[in-house]
Amino acid sequence: MSEQKKSYLHVVREKYCKGCGICVAFCPKQVLSLKNGKVFAEKPDLCIGCRMCELRCPDFAIEIRQKGEDEARAADAGSVDYEIPPEAHHA
Ligand code: SF4
Ligand code: SF4
Repeated sequence: MSEQKKSYLHVVREKYCKGCGICVAFCPKQVLSLKNGKVFAEKPDLCIGCRMCELRCPDFAIEIRQKGEDEARAADAGSVDYEIPPEAHHA
């Protein structure tokens, strides 16, 4: 197992984000900010991957993906891409 700090990718679907600031308010680490009426990860390094932002967004406009673990598994499995979550295919 890697001791490396986990890092997270903040995927924002700008088309759906209405800039309500709910995710900003719920984030326990003040990772997120609003800019021009859209959310963005201002301090992604502080993210602990709790997914509060993802769960609280009423518009499913933000999604958290973990970097590192998934990539390591993908490397083991050769060509399989675990970066794309299964639910992404059901849209
Ligand atoms: S809760 Fe959703 S819609 Fe509201 S600012 Fe955050 S990402 Fe945008
Ligand atoms: S996963 Fe948690 S810590 Fe990371 S941006 Fe979302 S609410 Fe903040």
